Amino acid sequence: MRIAVVTGGTRGIGAAISKQLKEAGYMVVANYMSNDEAAQEFHHQTGVEVMRWDVGDYEPCKKAVHEILAKHGTIDVLVNNAGITRDAFLHKTTPQMWHEVINTNLTSCFNMCHSVVPYMRERAFGRVINISSINGQKGQIGQVNYSAAKAGMIGLTKALALECASKGITVNAIAPGYIKTDMVGALDQNVLQSIVSQIPVGRLGTPEEIAAVVEFLSSDAAGFITGATIATNGGQYLG
Ligand code: NDP
Repeated sequence: MRIAVVTGGTRGIGAAISKQLKEAGYMVVANYMSNDEAAQEFHHQTGVEVMRWDVGDYEPCKKAVHEILAKHGTIDVLVNNAGITRDAFLHKTTPQMWHEVINTNLTSCFNMCHSVVPYMRERAFGRVINISSINGQKGQIGQVNYSAAKAGMIGLTKALALECASKGITVNAIAPGYIKTDMVGALDQNVLQSIVSQIPVGRLGTPEEIAAVVEFLSSDAAGFITGATIATNGGQYLG
């Protein structure tokens, strides 16, 4: 059985990814940061194993990867999905807001890949999928930190894909548009309405629509796709 690790895998898009991969036959470990209640509820509903650590912190990532390898023997699929926003115009963004967003969204990918990829190279198989964002592709007012982190994930994806291509490992990014989760639910209703009016498909995306792309990229059938960024945004940005 293939083993998948999904960071931020207990809520929102990550929860849909964890569920979808489990239904597709993977053994899934879903990581989270602090919301034990949501994680336990997700575990009881789905049977997916949940594990708490901060992906923005290097040593806990290394320790968690070693624990998962010791318990399950392998990691075949790594989905770097955990992410946060701390929105403000640049001149109101504090250094702390900058570092939190860069650490959680971007440095986390380095932290996780640094432990997982050498292992995948030895086994000559792996799938790394990084959940970026439409706002890393087009920029977004009030999200200089988030747009920089998500664009950084696309650069990391391309470079790592080249490094790993001859080793049976694919590395891809997904750039979701606006998806119906807590993160988007926290937006002001007027802002949300104006966002939906800019989506040609005329609605928000669903977490399941991102999970379906992850399942495909994880599969053997997707072995010739690497270094790609798959826009999944209802036509909102076609760059
Ligand atoms: P949610 O806020 O709904 O869920 C975030 C998940 O990430 C939670 O499980 C949370 O854990 C976990 N998490 C947050 N920080 C950390 C951390 N430091 N270490 C470990 N886990 C952490 O987010 P979404 O589902 O909306 O977003 C998922 C990803 O998709 C993010 O990377 C986001 O940037 C990206 N994205 C989302 C879009 C959207 O419209 N929703 C659009 C484009 C991209 P806990 O439950 O403990 O807080």
